[in-house]
Amino acid sequence: MEAIVYFFVFLFGSAIGSFLNVAAFRYNTGVFFRPRSFCFSCGKNLSWRENIPLLSFLRQRGRCRGCKSAISSQYFIVELATGILFLIVFLKEGLLIKTLFIWAIASIFMVIAIYDIRHKIIPDGFAGLLAVTALLYSIFYAPLGEHLLAAFLLSAPLAAIFLFSKGTWMGLGDGKLMFGIGLFLGISEGAAALLLSFWIGAAAGIILLFAGMPGARRIFGKLFKKKMTLKSEIPFGPFLITGAFCAYFFNLGFFDLLFGPSLF
Ligand SMILES: [Zn+2]
Repeated sequence: MEAIVYFFVFLFGSAIGSFLNVAAFRYNTGVFFRPRSFCFSCGKNLSWRENIPLLSFLRQRGRCRGCKSAISSQYFIVELATGILFLIVFLKEGLLIKTLFIWAIASIFMVIAIYDIRHKIIPDGFAGLLAVTALLYSIFYAPLGEHLLAAFLLSAPLAAIFLFSKGTWMGLGDGKLMFGIGLFLGISEGAAALLLSFWIGAAAGIILLFAGMPGARRIFGKLFKKKMTLKSEIPFGPFLITGAFCAYFFNLGFFDLLFGPSLF
């Protein structure tokens, strides 16, 4: 019985994921409110059978049925990842109103991550939506004063990095994103999220550098289209979001990260 509930939560998440894909793709393109889904290459409207999360992509082997042009694997990856995220939140929280809030926050995280990876920018609209949702969450489920303080304290270092590097190390969007994360997680977990994001970012940077070396490019092939160098611009938003989600899920406080959870 439980397995059926989990399955439906996953399905629900992947359906939301398919909507998030559309939101991230269409944001700022002027076709946001076109009611039907359509192929970006030939403009063909998609039937319901071509619009089923995960399954349609697999059945059509990642190609449009009209013009046979390749559909971005982003659709499939985001639908799968959102389904998994929704299931993880459900396993941690159970069926509560609180779960809906965290699903909403996870969904906004997902859109921001997609958009930042594609465009290397975090739109104010998305960061603002996250802040408002996290504020509502904290009003109902957290000590609001502490979470507000966390938002200002934790976004300040990123804003400082933006100012001192004149925007070359980090965009101001990362600070705005961290503001929402601080509101959501509070001081201890928020600081853990920030620290984790630097660790994850450093690890990813090293891996990408190695993946860009001549020998490795033969193995990784098309995965990285451009050669990565020390100057390559890597969006930081996805690392902040990964750090935030880990801190949330594992209840990681800042001192847990520094000294290990067993001490507390
Ligand atoms: Zn097409």
